[in-house]
Amino acid sequence: MNECIFCKIINKEIPATLLYEDEFALVFMDIGPIVEGHVLIIPKSHSEQLTDLSDPQVAHLHQLAKKVAKAQQSALQATGINILQNNGVAAGQEVPHFHIHVIPRFDDDTHHWNWNPKTYDSLDTMISIANKIKTHL
Ligand code: AMP
Ligand code: ZN
Repeated sequence: MNECIFCKIINKEIPATLLYEDEFALVFMDIGPIVEGHVLIIPKSHSEQLTDLSDPQVAHLHQLAKKVAKAQQSALQATGINILQNNGVAAGQEVPHFHIHVIPRFDDDTHHWNWNPKTYDSLDTMISIANKIKTHL
């Protein structure tokens, strides 16, 4: 028994406001919008995170994100778009089925991200972390 809420939407066991559907993906309205017009894009097969997807899935889902962003610009006159994609509980992922948030933004929408940039202790610290990541690329 699959308890995943997004799989239930795919299987039409619970309702969603659908915008688009194809063989591999579903696009629907987020019921808890950061800004009105907030859309979610999901793969039809259950995967949790970006790193679990195949490259063709990544390409298809992000092409759909671009398509949705263009529609938000022309239909809603969005002057900005946030693309957000959380991976893992530590990153704030609440629904463990991969999804891309496409959030239309407006000059007066009053939403502010709690973006709190830090500084590295030293340039060496940053370079040493960069080198660790680089060896795995
Ligand atoms: P995240 O924190 O990245 O996992 O985001 C999960 C998103 O799913 C949130 O923005 C929720 O508002 C949204 N959400 C949860 N349940 C539903 C649902 N049944 N229909 C539409 N959106 C949902
Ligand atoms: Zn699922």
